[in-house]
Amino acid sequence: MYPQEASFLAFEMEHIIAEKHSGATVAENLALACPYCNRAKGTDLGSLDPDTGLLTSFFNPRTQRWVEHFRLEGAEIVALTPEGRVTVSIMQFNQLDRRQERQHLIAAGQYEVPL
Ligand SMILES: [Zn+2]
Repeated sequence: MYPQEASFLAFEMEHIIAEKHSGATVAENLALACPYCNRAKGTDLGSLDPDTGLLTSFFNPRTQRWVEHFRLEGAEIVALTPEGRVTVSIMQFNQLDRRQERQHLIAAGQYEVPL
């Protein structure tokens, strides 16, 4: 997980289900997100799975386990499920600059994979 200390910009409280879609401002619907993910997600709830074309919800960090949907390979976050694939794709987890930053964090022992 991208550590907040390493980010120049503060992390943001993100609505998992956006208020636009009647998502409530309660702990179960909030996630601390880095600014890159938060901007990329916007008010989206999901996307089309790049493998199947089916409408698929994003990974929900409140109700799903990271390790069941993703695997870290080197500095790349590999999706294991449809939810993982739409999340990696829309939030652009593996953009070159993000992979490079992740690589530095891994080398510095500051990158921890969520459970
Ligand atoms: Zn992020």
